Amino acid sequence: MTQQQVRTRFAPSPTGFIHLGNIRSALYPWAFARANDGVFILRIEDTDLERSTQASVDVILEGMSWLQLDHDEGPYYQMQRMERYKEVLAQLQAAGHVYPCYMSVEELDALRERQMAAKEKPRYDGTWRPEPGKVLPPVPEGVKPVLRFKTPQDGVVGWDDKCKGRIEFQNSELDDLVIARPDGTPTYNFCVCVDDMDMRITHVIRGDDHVNNTPRQIHIFEALGATVPVFAHLPTVLNEQGEKMSKRNGAKAVTQYRDEGYLPDAMVNYLARLGWSHGDDEIFSRAQFLEWFNLDHLGRSAGQFDEAKLRWVNAQHLKAMEDAQLAALVRPFVVQAGVPEAQLDADDRLPRICALFKDRCETLVDLARWARVFYVDAIEPDADDFAKHVTETAAPALDAFAAAMETVAWNKDAINAAIKDVLKQLGLKMPQLAMPVRVLTMGTAHTPSVDAVLELLGREKILARLKSR
Ligand code: GLU
Repeated sequence: MTQQQVRTRFAPSPTGFIHLGNIRSALYPWAFARANDGVFILRIEDTDLERSTQASVDVILEGMSWLQLDHDEGPYYQMQRMERYKEVLAQLQAAGHVYPCYMSVEELDALRERQMAAKEKPRYDGTWRPEPGKVLPPVPEGVKPVLRFKTPQDGVVGWDDKCKGRIEFQNSELDDLVIARPDGTPTYNFCVCVDDMDMRITHVIRGDDHVNNTPRQIHIFEALGATVPVFAHLPTVLNEQGEKMSKRNGAKAVTQYRDEGYLPDAMVNYLARLGWSHGDDEIFSRAQFLEWFNLDHLGRSAGQFDEAKLRWVNAQHLKAMEDAQLAALVRPFVVQAGVPEAQLDADDRLPRICALFKDRCETLVDLARWARVFYVDAIEPDADDFAKHVTETAAPALDAFAAAMETVAWNKDAINAAIKDVLKQLGLKMPQLAMPVRVLTMGTAHTPSVDAVLELLGREKILARLKSR
């Protein structure tokens, strides 16, 4: 028998903004599909009309596209599938898996109070569940019923969770779920099952806040005659304070990390490690991740977000990235920092600037801040560095250096030789000239090797900046 093709999905509810914890629930099913030549499906669960927004859908799509979590099918929208749910509901009803329940909200409340008073777990008591030989109460006039699913009453329902191991529930703990409201609209757990069945999902990889829905969904799958998918329920992602990540306690939208200059591959690397491992490997490429990813090494405990570690991972990816590629990624940030596109197009310096500075940057924003200095007209040197290095005693050396820069041949070696000449003439040591030169030309005393920086900066800018003192 040929092995069944892997089909996974990400099924977000567009009801809020999407943070790193949410997007990790997209990363794993995407990776599992890609690692197995499978199909990855995007499904928007927008049935909560009051809370679902287009803005939230947009952030999901933007976040996924930034991280290059490309989907093969969809996005499907549940609101566009209502007719299909109703059709399947009718089939279930015809097959006797569903029954109308006329219990009013007041009756349900009274039932709950009685159960609580008797220290029982509140649950529907099966009043309207048809059984052989049972006489049902008379149908009240003018009341539209909900539809309830006939949950098996004995035995256990369970599954081998790829993340959490064996999970079982006693059927006696599950009451008969409402699967359609009085107006006929189907409820959440039912829609999810119809979708997973129709989309032929083989592996459901999602947050563990859905563990309690799973036994109900398994029953629905079975009633539908559908194959029950494999489940992997991922532990939550906690914020730095150890709380569940949410907007309320300061989580950022995933797109904000894009705007703060994180690299998509670094983010994929970081999120991958937040709930999965491959030995002790901390830094890996997207290709390595896809080669290694499987559901056998999912972490069982909650992952905790750590911004310092994310910055470190990002720095490692920046450093390892090819200069031309990095230049393309940093370019919009440099433009945002005020450098006109035309200036960036005027020469080939940007990749060379990337090469020189990438190992001292954590984000694209850091790198763009450096790059900007090479293009703008005026810079504002750091005041402390200026006071410390651009002193009266440095003046003769700076004058001699400026004179040398007027005529030197423009390459790194010649610039270096010219600097050494000045030092020799005046009997100075390298830092006595290099530090004030750095402050005046780059705005700070801390830069990569001065000759390499000067070569990239260009004669004109250097002379203008030296004059500004
Ligand atoms: N829409 C659900 C959520 O955003 C996910 C449902 C599922 O993956 O089955 O939490």
